[in-house]
Amino acid sequence: MKIRDRIMIVEDEKSIAGFIRAILNSNGYDAMVAQSGGEALTMISSHCPDLVILDLGLPDMDGTEIITKVRSWTQLPIIVVSARGNEQDKVSALETGADDYITKPFGAAELLARIRVALRHTHNSAGTQANGGCFVAGDLTVDYDKHQVLIRGENMKLTQNEFRIVALLSRYAGKVLTYDYIMKELWGPQNGGGNQILRVNMANIRRKIEKNPAEPQYIFTEVGVGYRMIEGD
Ligand code: CA
Repeated sequence: MKIRDRIMIVEDEKSIAGFIRAILNSNGYDAMVAQSGGEALTMISSHCPDLVILDLGLPDMDGTEIITKVRSWTQLPIIVVSARGNEQDKVSALETGADDYITKPFGAAELLARIRVALRHTHNSAGTQANGGCFVAGDLTVDYDKHQVLIRGENMKLTQNEFRIVALLSRYAGKVLTYDYIMKELWGPQNGGGNQILRVNMANIRRKIEKNPAEPQYIFTEVGVGYRMIEGD
């Protein structure tokens, strides 16, 4: 018998906690709820959940404080729930160690996709599953050995920098990567130069791989936060 993944919901609003719990239960997860930060910290250490869904707006504690504390002893995936428009909160949650975020109001499909991606990355030790070989999503193929991005088998002739951006996003497909994270991974610590080089490269990438660069199918912009590549097939 398959062991069910256990998910802890940290949320003080009962209706939202109940909504999330119902989605999880009907999709094969065990769910438990903590209604405050203090309760969450106790329950996480005693119940060892496989994943935590964390509302940033809790009565007793700032959500990022919980992330910092949890990260001091475990790498269990944390998905933050945030209100629309709080881009800075999302970025600081990700920088503190959250794995991803979801914006209120959200639907079941979106929540389940975020959970699936976060659990997959821990099961595969943080995005190393794509070493060698290819990443495939629909008509898009990223060939890591040949350093090529293909659409329906045709080489889209990305530059080296463009390829490195697409390759990085595809290794974390389904997960948001912040502008800062991408910049640091590909160009090292910056001297305050901003994300201009990334934006310019992304515009070129989209012209090459997207049917309509204004409505991308493969790499999405998370406004004020970063980029997210579609999940692989
Ligand atoms: Ca709340």
